[in-house]
Formats: sequence, structure tokens, C-alpha cells
Amino acid sequence: MKDVELYQHLLGLKSPWRVERVDLDVKTRRVTVVAAHAKDASFVCPECSSACPLHDHDEERSWRHLDSCQFETHLRARIPRVRCEQHGVRQARVPWAEPKSRFTLLFERFAIDVLLETDVLGATRLLGISWDQAHHIMERAVGRGLARRSEGRLRHVGVDEKAIAKRHRYATLLNDLKRGVVLEVAEGRRKESLQECLASVPAEQLAQVEAFAMDMWQPYFQTICGAVENGASKIVHDRFHIVSHMNKALDIVRRRETRELVEEGDRLLVGTKHQFLFAAERLDEDVRQRFVRMRHAGFKTARAWSIKELLRGLWDCPSKRAALEWWSRWCFWATHSRLSPVIKVARMIERHLPNVMSYFAHRITNAASEAINSVVRGLQKRACGFRSFSNFRTAVLFRCGGLELYPAT
Ligand SMILES: [Zn+2]
Repeated sequence: MKDVELYQHLLGLKSPWRVERVDLDVKTRRVTVVAAHAKDASFVCPECSSACPLHDHDEERSWRHLDSCQFETHLRARIPRVRCEQHGVRQARVPWAEPKSRFTLLFERFAIDVLLETDVLGATRLLGISWDQAHHIMERAVGRGLARRSEGRLRHVGVDEKAIAKRHRYATLLNDLKRGVVLEVAEGRRKESLQECLASVPAEQLAQVEAFAMDMWQPYFQTICGAVENGASKIVHDRFHIVSHMNKALDIVRRRETRELVEEGDRLLVGTKHQFLFAAERLDEDVRQRFVRMRHAGFKTARAWSIKELLRGLWDCPSKRAALEWWSRWCFWATHSRLSPVIKVARMIERHLPNVMSYFAHRITNAASEAINSVVRGLQKRACGFRSFSNFRTAVLFRCGGLELYPAT
């Protein structure tokens, strides 16, 4: 088989396109495949698909293709332009690439696979493309995916905020909790941020949402109430966010007490931060026993830890009624704990109690958002921050959007 025929097969070129020439440059390790079409070929208008007469050709262009035995391979051709009665002179579509792309469909597919498996920097090295090119491929993939997203039923939605950089920069994430995918990402954590996210969901789909899981954050609460009919009854302040507030309070108590003890020359609590953040069932038995002894000995941190652990039981109550009883006992204990950070959190939950108890009507948590969060954290770590918010959004939707990313082949 001659190399021309070989590449004809490898590229899957069909009539009227054929491989005209293959040039091999051993020095630069490069294969250039030149494609051309039959003289009498006819093409269609890219807008209306009607057959049109050939007008002329654009200048020769080049597309990066999959390597041939580690030789960088480029396809070159002049794209025909057609003259449509309705749309004027237009560039015809070529079967091997999407309009404006500098890569063939097969290369783009492969690049998407590589980008899903590794970080952008790793992908640029493996593929021999620039950082900007890699990002462009991701952007196009996300654009395709969003355009194709089906408007299936959306039942449970999570609203989550994410710190995306130091100095208090945030992003708002809208998640489909059932599929565990990100629907949209917007900058900030203001009303407008969530409004922007909601605007990406078709109105009929939004109206079908049964419940929104979110933190006790007024701008989000107001936005949902304004955008969704009976919004207030659909909001659930979920256990992950509530327990995380309690964990923060616990840590403030621990830091204060550690300082007090260190001043007295006691280093018992130094370096215990992570132990106290663990849930009781995940602690080693000896550490748990130590906490119990500390509590009996009157340590504030151990007391705060017990209060936090007890709070988690709220969501195990069999009914709303049982949960309300549980709540009043817990709230009494917490507000009489003489631990001001704990009291503050207890009061905050109390203010939002109807939307904490709505859990028992909807039974949703933001667990799926937590999983998404850890993927996003990984993305941030590997990217060492993002140059722009739009790059962050692209990376999140590329990895966590559950989108159909590949170009149609
Ligand atoms: Zn047309």
C-alpha cells in the first residue's frame, strides 16, 4: 500500500476528498498530509445545507492530526468556499475538523481523553501543544457539551460556594445532586452569582426542582425565593454545611483553649486539630476514650466536640417531630455550654430552623456537592490557581459537568 492510500484510510477521507501527497521530514520528525478534493465536487452551504456551486478556495490551512509513529502529523488543505443564493459566499465544512479548529476531530477526541486523565500541563507535554491550545480544546468541548445537554428532569439541586483563591474570591456552583454533576459556575457568592447559575437552567426544568440544598446564606436564600415558585419551602439547609459551621466553632474553642493551656505550660492540645474534626465513628478507640476523659476533666474543647457530635444525630431522627424534640434538647445544651462560638452557631441554626427541618420533607443532603468539591480542590491544586475566572469555569465544567465533550465524528 502506498503512503497516499495508507493515509487515505487512516484519516478516513471519503469522496470527494482524497490524499494528494504525503511528505515526510525526518529531521523535524514531521509528516505532512496534503488533501484535495475532486475537481467536479459539489459542496453544501454550512447554514442551510443546500447544494451550492463552488466559488473559490481559502488559503491553505493546516490541522494537527494524531501522530504517526511519534512523528507529528499535520493535514493541509484549501477549504472550498461556496456561493449560496440565500447566504452568500461561505466556507464549506470539511469532514475532518470542526469550523475554526486547528486540530482534526480525531486529534481533538484524543486530546480530550488525555486532558481528562491528567492536568493541563501534563497534557501539553504529552500532546505537544501549548497551554492556550489545550485550554481552547477544553473550552470548545465544554461549549459542545452545554449545547447538547438534555433537558431531563432535575429533582434535587445543590448550591455551593467555593473559595477559589486567597483574598476572599468565591465561586457559586449549581449542582445536579442526583447525577453528581456541576450545572453551572459563576463568579462570587452574591445574589447575582446564583441568578447567573439559575439562568443556565431552562425555566421548565427549574420549575420542576423539588428541593435545593444549600448553606444558611441569605443572598442564596433570597435568590431562590425570588426565582422559584414556593422557593422557601424547597430550601434545605443541609447537614454538611451546618456541621461544617459547628466544626469551625469547635476549632475556635480548641485554639483558644490550646493557647490558655500553653501559657500554663501544658501542651496537651497542641497538634490535635484534625483529631477533633473527625466524626466519632472514625476515631481510633483510644483517641475517643481520651476525648471522653477530657470531657469529664472539664476541657472546653472536648465539650464542644461532644456537642458537635450530638448535633450530627439530628439527621438520623425518624421524623420531623422526633427531630424537633432532639433539636430542643440539643439547643438547650449548646446555648448553655458557655462556649461563645458554639452558642453563636446554635443561634444561627435556630434562626433558620424551618429550612433545616425541611430535610424531613425532602431528605436531601449536599453529599454529592462535597464529592464535586474535592475534585475541584484537586483541579485548583494542580493548576496552581487559574489565570481567569473563565478558565476556572471551563476546567470545572470539563471535569465535573458530566457533559458529552467529544466532537461529532
Ligand atoms: Zn445557505
